[in-house]
Amino acid sequence: MTKYIITTGGVISGLGKGLVSASIAKILQVYGYDVTNVKIDPYVNIDAGTMNPFEHGEVFVLDDGGEVDMDLGTYERFLNQNLSRKHNITTGKAYKTVIDKERKGDYLGKTVQIIPHVTDVIKDRIKEVGKGKDIVVVEIGGTVGDIESMPFLEAVRQLHFEEGSENVLFMHVTLVPTMSVVGEQKTKPTQHSVKRLLESGIQPDILIARSTSPLHKKTKEKIARFCNTHVDDIISDPDADSIYEVPLLMEKEKLGEKVTKKLGLKKGKPLSSWKKLVEKKIKAKGRITVALAGKYTALNDSYVSVLEALKHAAMEIGCKVDVLWLETSDLEKDKKKLKDLDKVHGLIVPGGFGSRGVEGKIAAIDYVRNNDIPFLGLCYGFQLAAVGFAREKCGLNGAHTTESDEKTKHPIICILPEQHQITDMGATMRLGSWPCEIESGTLAYKVYGKELVNERHRHRYELNPDYIEILEKNGLKFSGRAPDRPIMEILELPEHPFFLATQFHPEFLSRLEEPSPPFVGFVEACLRRKIK
Ligand code: GLN
Repeated sequence: MTKYIITTGGVISGLGKGLVSASIAKILQVYGYDVTNVKIDPYVNIDAGTMNPFEHGEVFVLDDGGEVDMDLGTYERFLNQNLSRKHNITTGKAYKTVIDKERKGDYLGKTVQIIPHVTDVIKDRIKEVGKGKDIVVVEIGGTVGDIESMPFLEAVRQLHFEEGSENVLFMHVTLVPTMSVVGEQKTKPTQHSVKRLLESGIQPDILIARSTSPLHKKTKEKIARFCNTHVDDIISDPDADSIYEVPLLMEKEKLGEKVTKKLGLKKGKPLSSWKKLVEKKIKAKGRITVALAGKYTALNDSYVSVLEALKHAAMEIGCKVDVLWLETSDLEKDKKKLKDLDKVHGLIVPGGFGSRGVEGKIAAIDYVRNNDIPFLGLCYGFQLAAVGFAREKCGLNGAHTTESDEKTKHPIICILPEQHQITDMGATMRLGSWPCEIESGTLAYKVYGKELVNERHRHRYELNPDYIEILEKNGLKFSGRAPDRPIMEILELPEHPFFLATQFHPEFLSRLEEPSPPFVGFVEACLRRKIK
């Protein structure tokens, strides 16, 4: 019988519920259980594909092309598991199912209501993911008390009632602020948030308290008294240096033991292999600085997967990475700023959309190409590397991507013919996992060590096949291609210490336990670079 752990959040958003959910899942996976995660997003969007990363963080992409909440990236990175779009349930998806059914007449004249019809769909979707699994950790996004999350809380209340307390466990992540003057840990926000949860018929079994430092015994006792939760079931979740330490911190508080006991399961092996990986980073030797050129550089959340992939590669190699954010619109205003690149070990130009900052990105790529500074281009980074090369090395003045200049004389990057007709925003992109053939003897082959890889995509434009010949004749090498169509997937410059760009997003498949090969290759090249 599948067991369910439901994670809710209180007081404020951004408490790291995703991290707590991924951590408990990891602990239970190490114990030997078949575990997976589900994220519930109470927004009305069908998926995250149409959402601005500035507002909601990175859009994460799955193998099946699902454009989902960035928490799914955290789950995959912790569990080293490929999830599907079924693992992200939104209000939009739940209502769409109900409305489609209603239009087909499937409700046979009944009044269609939030309870039971919408809540039934939510429960069915959760159970569908749970089929054949030992444990599903279901994270409910948002904060308890939000109007949007009410149908979801009601659905999990029913799930608990139907499946029984031994099969459904509630974990509530809350905030315990410390008043800086007196250093006192305040419990009132937690008390209020648990009250809101109780109004929905949910008594939390375990409370996870985010705080700057571990909870004092007195604080735990006070929370226990007011929240009806045993003092042993209140877990401290203090700030950690690295997200990958969180499962270890939770295990130290015996979270896995408490959860398994409540669910009638056995505790398993300790987290020693995970601990080894995390400690490798702590013992890190060597340090590099990588410039990241982008548009949303003020927000780490917009580039989570790239940053994590960099960390994985660095942890594998045993070095530390500092990131220098380059706001590319500034580079356009002041070309002297390109000199900042002399002081870094490498440049990453990640994915992006639209024309803001594009000339700055091209200038940065040209600069590292001409100065032997390691470069990794991801999606837009691939496209703009080709544009810069065409302009400078092939004499194709005015070359561009039609995304930025529709009337360019040399459309090096253009829209795929099959994407022309589509008007539904959710369907205009090449999404998800696609195969790529790698030519042996190339840098790409050295990096991957194999001839066929599958990587995840999210783009509307492609390298224009009409320009392959002239680009290659002038020294650019397309070392990775789609097996069946003239779609260029990887480019490189054989004469350069490390100049590699991919049309796909290797960062989406990078895991602590299995770092992404292009990132590992790039970090190694950065370590080799001597800065004068
Ligand atoms: N804007 C480009 C495209 O749509 C690149 C997308 C990306 O970087 N994810 O093709």
